[in-house]
Amino acid sequence: MKHILIAGSGFAGVSAIRSLRKEGCTVPITLVAPQPAMVYHPSLIWVPAGLRTQRDIVVPLAGFFRRYRVHYVQGSVTGLDPGAHRLQTSAGDMAYERLVIATGGRYLKKLQGIEHTFLPCEGYAPVAAMGDRLNALQGGTLAFGFSGNPSEPSAMRGGPLFEFLLITDTQLRRQGRRDRFDLVFFTPSAEPGKRLGPEAMGRLMREMEQRGIRGHLGHKLKGFASDRVMTEGGDIKSDLTVFIPGMTGPEWVAKSGLPLSAAGFVRADEHCRVPGFEGSVYVAGDAGTFPGPDWMPKQGHLADLQGHTLARNLMGDLRGEYTEHTFRRELICVVDTLDNGILVFRDPKRSAVFGTPALHWSKQLFEKVYLGRCRIGG
Ligand SMILES: Cc1cc2nc3c(=O)[nH]c(=O)nc-3n(C[C@H](O)[C@H](O)[C@H](O)COP(=O)(O)OP(=O)(O)OC[C@H]3O[C@@H](n4cnc5c(N)ncnc54)[C@H](O)[C@@H]3O)c2cc1C
Repeated sequence: MKHILIAGSGFAGVSAIRSLRKEGCTVPITLVAPQPAMVYHPSLIWVPAGLRTQRDIVVPLAGFFRRYRVHYVQGSVTGLDPGAHRLQTSAGDMAYERLVIATGGRYLKKLQGIEHTFLPCEGYAPVAAMGDRLNALQGGTLAFGFSGNPSEPSAMRGGPLFEFLLITDTQLRRQGRRDRFDLVFFTPSAEPGKRLGPEAMGRLMREMEQRGIRGHLGHKLKGFASDRVMTEGGDIKSDLTVFIPGMTGPEWVAKSGLPLSAAGFVRADEHCRVPGFEGSVYVAGDAGTFPGPDWMPKQGHLADLQGHTLARNLMGDLRGEYTEHTFRRELICVVDTLDNGILVFRDPKRSAVFGTPALHWSKQLFEKVYLGRCRIGG
């Protein structure tokens, strides 16, 4: 029997489901994920300032599943036999006719002492803990940094780190205690933010300079201790360290026999099909590596576009037509600072950056609309 199995309920999985049904797909859809909810990562930046709670971040999808006729199975994927069309999960083996991989990426945790840092990308708990620590501190040095994966330029997450840093600065000013803290930005890259485009990089560097944030750039990271960040260019004393490491692919794909990129992501073609498994395995979002410019980000926005693209091509495959829909190569993000928003845009022909307080509000409006559609299944 025709049957679509989707693994993961983030941007990519949700977008694929919505697009499949909107394209007229009547085939049964099963989704397997650890919880029947979407974790909306972009709003984590507002948790330390007390502007979002767990209920705002972890969005239940029961209504969405009802509306789009999705059979939900609670479980985690542990392996795959693509030849036999079987997905291994903690809820047992699952057969599929078409498989959509949307299980996101992982963060590299190899650096010595990484347990002394707050990793603000893995959901609500670490970000809430970071906010508690910040509130408890009377003063000191706060170090914020990110690094990449040398095997793959797109396997990094810099934008949110700028947001956590700039929002912390704004929050401390509002609390009247910024003068008691030294804020330091560190990264092994000498040109951080370069992938956002040349204007954006200059704009973010100026923003930090104006706010009195020190840079410690271009020095390879050696590790962390409870009171410092160690780099080849010297140590940074730190009372609170926030760090976003480079990314790698999902653990379970390693032995799946699927083609993988150098950094361990599932290789996709420009139509979101997996080469060698066309017509049976598709990938969207952070779990995949896609052809395109090396500045192409791992972003919710692209995960949405890829989920939509794979749905259209999967529909073509169901009809027996080989369609070649693809997605726009673009980067769009609003770097929020609480009192302002900086829009960064890049595509193969153009790049632009501009800031206005209205963008802070538009980022929240986007969140409201996006999550409203997930909550009620619109
Ligand atoms: C702090 C922060 C701020 C961000 N801000 C923005 C922004 O402003 N704009 C933007 O476009 N992007 C932003 N991003 C990036 C964006 O959140 C990601 O690119 C996006 O979440 C990727 O979507 P995804 O569906 O591929 O993966 P995820 O959203 O990570 O979803 C993966 C899904 O798979 C599930 N899963 C994981 N492992 C398994 C398994 N083994 N078996 C089954 N299911 C599994 C997870 O539970 C989850 O449901 C931000 C990220 C962070 C961390």
